[in-house]
Amino acid sequence: MIWHPYTQMKTASPPIPITRGEGVYLFDDSGNKYIDAISSWWVNLHGHSHPFLAEKIYQQAKKLEHVMFAGFTHEPAIQLAERLLPLLPGDFTKIFYSDNGSTAVEVALKMAIQYWKNREQGTRKVQESRLKEEPRSKIIALKNSYHGDTFGSMSVSDRGVFTLAFQDYLFDVIFIDVPTSENISALIKQVNDLGEEIACFIYEPLIQAAGGMVMYEADPLNELLKACKKNGSICIADEVMTGFYRTGKMFASEYVHEKPDIICLSKGITGGVLPLGATACTQRIFDAFLSEDKSKTFFHGHSYTANPLACAAANASLDLLHVGEFRFQLDQIIRLHKTYPTTLAVRTSRFATKNLRRCGTVLAFEVETDEKDEYLNSIGKIISHKAMQAGVLLRPLGNTVYFMPPYCVSKQQLERIYIVTQEVLHEL
Ligand code: PMP
Repeated sequence: MIWHPYTQMKTASPPIPITRGEGVYLFDDSGNKYIDAISSWWVNLHGHSHPFLAEKIYQQAKKLEHVMFAGFTHEPAIQLAERLLPLLPGDFTKIFYSDNGSTAVEVALKMAIQYWKNREQGTRKVQESRLKEEPRSKIIALKNSYHGDTFGSMSVSDRGVFTLAFQDYLFDVIFIDVPTSENISALIKQVNDLGEEIACFIYEPLIQAAGGMVMYEADPLNELLKACKKNGSICIADEVMTGFYRTGKMFASEYVHEKPDIICLSKGITGGVLPLGATACTQRIFDAFLSEDKSKTFFHGHSYTANPLACAAANASLDLLHVGEFRFQLDQIIRLHKTYPTTLAVRTSRFATKNLRRCGTVLAFEVETDEKDEYLNSIGKIISHKAMQAGVLLRPLGNTVYFMPPYCVSKQQLERIYIVTQEVLHEL
């Protein structure tokens, strides 16, 4: 009856009916409970069915559940923009709402592409000599990146198993290596050679999430951004996963000196309760769309753009991020992650673990198997199944095991996640 996401329906076990959520726990219809160690695909911040969020959504639902957002506005959206803008890492002045992470990325790409188109049309009128110039067209992204499942966001995601079937339909993107202190000079040269041809550069700052929780340093990224910005290219930070404290700071871009021109947010923005996307841009970008010429309008919008319930949830989530208890919880997760053993004392297991890494509230490592280190590695499903039997929801990306708990996780619950994981690994 129902076709589930990222699921091979021929071989998958039947989905587990979840009837209730409370704090870090999800409860199934047989009475089993599971610690959600991955925040339900990285969305949940404060725990499931949080009473404060539920109350705020209920109050909003009684007032206004939804209204189209062209020609209309409402208090929850205005309040959210007013609160978010000063918190964002950069000189952002406008927020464009959508309803998920992929659309937040689509909006960013369309803004960047049309920015150059609109500007080019503008300069044509005043500067005849530039008549033959084309708008900037090259898009740069990082190898191993993932930015979503819609066509634009797939196009800027590295080609791999997720995009294989659609390869011929994706637009051209130049994929460059993830910046490191070793390769940064070569990358800067590559960027400089392309110079003013680059329309935009899109990146997941510090953690390439779906690419296997690959973590990289802020300094080389900073150098790369500096090179892109020097030639005027638009830098787009995809903080759909890293936003709202996953890396320890509110946004991963806070670790990087050079700030993005566009930032994409979703997932944790509502505390993980309702779908919402937000794409913020600088005044420079917004201004390129202001015109008497109607063709320069940003023709983009979704039925549920800026849904009031989702905006109310986002405002309530921001409230929770400002209470003292949250800081304590965040620091505790970061501190406890440091206690997770760097090497697993493999006694009974056939498998070793490697490459343990941490960034804020995210911890990840690989399990060494005879198969390739990749999403299709079959060990992930086995680990997930065994962890669920022991009451912990893990969903490894192939052989990459990771923890990304909701911030309400207690010391005991987080230690339980560690213990169960180690027991599962020993049993393999
Ligand atoms: N960007 C990043 C960095 C992501 O991790 C994801 C989702 N995993 C997306 C975009 C797409 O978000 P959504 O699933 O809400 O479309």
